[in-house]
Amino acid sequence: MTSGGARTGPRPGTPGGRTGRSGTPDGAGRASRYDLDRDGLGSVVEEVAPGAPRYRVVQLWEGMHRRLLAPEELTELPVPLRAALGDHPALAPALQPEEVWDADGGETRKWVWRLADGARIETVLLHYPARSTVCVSTQAGCAMACGFCATGQAGFARNLRLGEIVEQVARAAREAGERGRRLSRVVFMGMGEPLANYDATWGAVVRLHDDLGLSARHLTISTVGIVPGIRRLAAEELPVNLAVSLHAADDATRDELVPVNRRYPLAELSGACRAYVDATGRRLSLEWALIDHVNDTTSDVGALAAFARPLGAHVNLIPLNPTPGYPVQGSPPARVRAFRDGLRMTGVNVTVRRTRGRDIDAACGQLATRGSEHRVTAPRRRLGPG
Ligand code: SAH
Repeated sequence: MTSGGARTGPRPGTPGGRTGRSGTPDGAGRASRYDLDRDGLGSVVEEVAPGAPRYRVVQLWEGMHRRLLAPEELTELPVPLRAALGDHPALAPALQPEEVWDADGGETRKWVWRLADGARIETVLLHYPARSTVCVSTQAGCAMACGFCATGQAGFARNLRLGEIVEQVARAAREAGERGRRLSRVVFMGMGEPLANYDATWGAVVRLHDDLGLSARHLTISTVGIVPGIRRLAAEELPVNLAVSLHAADDATRDELVPVNRRYPLAELSGACRAYVDATGRRLSLEWALIDHVNDTTSDVGALAAFARPLGAHVNLIPLNPTPGYPVQGSPPARVRAFRDGLRMTGVNVTVRRTRGRDIDAACGQLATRGSEHRVTAPRRRLGPG
């Protein structure tokens, strides 16, 4: 663990003035710098420096979105303006680094962020040879209650605001840049269910595309299978990638593993996926965490193939990562290979995903920050059976 080195202390009060498009319908959380759109930034500049030339707003906007700097770091601004912007509550950062963890020889980094109201979330940055990807949270906690997922085990705290989602990407992109890498992909696969916080998630997608310059084809929303959300997504203008966390392709098993299946069973989910693929032309991916003798049998191969094939979907397999509240183990390598080969024989495209960051609890399904009493203070070993 390395020290986070917070740049700014906690700020009192809630921001006044315009805040641009806001994040959450429920008003939880506090507006912060990336909640502001260009007009919102313009209003703040006008408030602290009435009559300031318009190009100051452009400098501020470009500094934050192109160079990913904090307002107080923009040396091209006059010192008094920089100081006033740095002190303005509407420009406070949303995220205070509480813990920073590195793994895989520095190729994986996990941040635990503390939000203004004390909620905690996690962000994971993954470097690959040709690209870097950030995995962002959309909610503090999650209400979907998937038993094998550490976030689901911990329960729901609140929706994130647009600015809290965008700032995760900005901070990760800056970190990548400082290592000579370029952040090119964002996956909405951290804590929370993106389609249960639709407006803030979609607002963040538009920001990342329009203002941070990320292409829609490099943005992936992962969902547990909220059917109305998928249908809404199908009608949006930007064709982002859609990943569905399937994990079982018969309703009885899926009802157990992914409780929201009782509300949106497989037939409805399949219809929504069809609509998404037809509307966007994007390839759908199906996520499948292989759980020993739970969803890794030959009959699971058959059910998955029957679901995936008509949709032309790509299947991502990942052996279940261990979490404290779920006693069942991930499938051993031989069963993973057998499942992959069986699926391949049916003509379905399939990849076995490499697990990253497991020893710092940064792997899929391991994000679980709650109160400080639950914080991980040292890397934990993988739990053995029993
Ligand atoms: N709520 C969204 C996004 C967050 S979960 C969703 O469900 O898609 C990101 C991915 O990690 C999902 O595919 C989820 O099913 C998977 N996952 C959760 N717990 C896991 C675990 N213990 N091992 C492996 N994958 C897990």
